[in-house]
Amino acid sequence: MSQSNYDVIIIGGGVLGCMTARELSRFHLKTALLEKNPDICAEVTKANTAIIYPGYDSKPGSLKAKLCVNGNKNMEALCKELSVPFKHCGSLMVAAGPKGEEKLRKKLKAGKENSVPGIKLISGEEARLLEPALSDKITLALYAETTATLDPWALGIAAAENAAANGVDIYTSTEVTGIINTATDHSIQQDSPDDSKPDESKPNDSIPDDLKKESYSYKITTKTGASYTAQNVVCTAGLYSDTLTSMICNNPYKIVPQRADFIVLDPSLEGFLSHILFCESEDKGKSVSLVPAIDGPILIGSSKIDASGDKESRPSSEEGLRELAEEARDFLPDIPLDLCIRTFTGLRPNPYYIDSEKSINDFIITEAPDSPGFIYLMGIKTPGLSCAGEIAKHVTELAKNRIGVISERTDFDPSKKTGIGINNLPEETIFNEASETEASETAASTEKPTISLSRDSIFNDDILTDDKNRESGKIINGNIVCRCRKVTEKEIIEAIHRMPCPPTLDGIKRRTGTCMGRCQGGYCTQRILEIVKAETDIDLSDIEWDRDGSWIVR
Ligand SMILES: Cc1cc2nc3c(=O)[nH]c(=O)nc-3n(C[C@H](O)[C@H](O)[C@H](O)COP(=O)(O)OP(=O)(O)OC[C@H]3O[C@@H](n4cnc5c(N)ncnc54)[C@H](O)[C@@H]3O)c2cc1C
Repeated sequence: MSQSNYDVIIIGGGVLGCMTARELSRFHLKTALLEKNPDICAEVTKANTAIIYPGYDSKPGSLKAKLCVNGNKNMEALCKELSVPFKHCGSLMVAAGPKGEEKLRKKLKAGKENSVPGIKLISGEEARLLEPALSDKITLALYAETTATLDPWALGIAAAENAAANGVDIYTSTEVTGIINTATDHSIQQDSPDDSKPDESKPNDSIPDDLKKESYSYKITTKTGASYTAQNVVCTAGLYSDTLTSMICNNPYKIVPQRADFIVLDPSLEGFLSHILFCESEDKGKSVSLVPAIDGPILIGSSKIDASGDKESRPSSEEGLRELAEEARDFLPDIPLDLCIRTFTGLRPNPYYIDSEKSINDFIITEAPDSPGFIYLMGIKTPGLSCAGEIAKHVTELAKNRIGVISERTDFDPSKKTGIGINNLPEETIFNEASETEASETAASTEKPTISLSRDSIFNDDILTDDKNRESGKIINGNIVCRCRKVTEKEIIEAIHRMPCPPTLDGIKRRTGTCMGRCQGGYCTQRILEIVKAETDIDLSDIEWDRDGSWIVR
């Protein structure tokens, strides 16, 4: 089997791995990212509350606080660079009694200590002026101007595509099963991903003081049989960072998963809520968050359900969903919960000390003491998304400190994107029509769709011609395949050719918004499958939803 050599290998293609890949691509380094799933950003990054936090929740002086405040400050510019939709909506943390009010005052104090801009306490009446649907029982609110929301996976995917355009190699369906420090020959081969216990028998030897930088390196083996060597490793494997780190050092931490249920309300409710709401329950503390998400839906999250150590399955919990619904209604009595279009469940990577079983409240981002060049990230839960850009810079600094002098590339392009799939085709190979700008101008003047796909369109009768979509430029891109979110055939074809091969239905969903509207794919799934088949020659029965083996029509 082949073996490839890199300066840095990143293990894990969540938002943090992808952002780190992009950050490292600014430098003259040969970098690769290895992801076990067929697609990137399909684990913790896929199922969270999508809030860009202002930074008052984190303990003053903590790494989390510093990264979150800076992350919030820089996120809008980052999204602009990467063309990721970003909604700057502000937030209200609301209280309905003395306990909640006290908490809000503490948050305000912490926020001031963390230098969070634009925060103030406002009365219940003032809060209701901003959010008329709020209950009369709200007595106080903490307003934060800088809170925002975005699609988490969109940020990760855009970062990966930019990293790829700047020379990073991205390997999907590449599960790391073993890591060896070739200097000390630390190695523990992994048979089962569930085996998260550190190996007690591992020798506690450390790198000799006089070890030269050049004399350490890591050999990474994968389930595919391919192996890689790298001078430096960044382990950002989310729920499995503990397992992988334990392969290489005496890791004192473990990740205990906790389930989090979410409810999604129909996008037709756009306007019901304009700020993100954090509701402080008198008896439970912060109970429920409501987010007016990108493109209209309201996201309600999130419960805290014991996952009994299971890092793989994500069943929704009736108890968790009922609690969310009750709490949402408590603060917003008229919220139309009957317009629920979907529920889903995420997993929190909660970090604990293995010895004391004590939970850890800060991010763990460090270089393994006995393994130079092995940097690991652990327990990056909320607000990890808000901090993604800053964490990537922080990790890059750690790597640079280890590597020594590395020069910046003058040809780094912060916005250019290349698909990450092996079936990428240059855009002109797929579409022969005028550029989008030209097409947009033509459409505006003729009021007719100006599509000319280079192959026969599959669903000619599906062209929608409403003015709103024409104005937004969507209609000109081709036949509408997803009616709920007005996603066109061209957008789907483009997504297919930008994805790792073979494309998954969930990957198309997260890149285009299909299957996310009211019908949840009832209308468009079959059409999308046909397009995938036509574009890739993959048999219908082989197309998967997300993971290996998640076939749709078998
Ligand atoms: C319920 C919930 C709500 C949240 N809400 C917010 C919020 O509103 N705002 C906010 O700022 N943050 C929030 N967060 C935190 C945020 O989602 C995370 O910090 C962030 O997504 C973590 O990204 P990651 O890259 O570390 O993890 P992941 O996205 O899980 O990525 C890790 C990757 O490593 C891969 N991997 C694992 N093992 C291997 C292996 N052996 N070989 C190769 N690859 C491997 C996985 O497949 C995965 O793709 C929330 C988190 C949760 C759970």
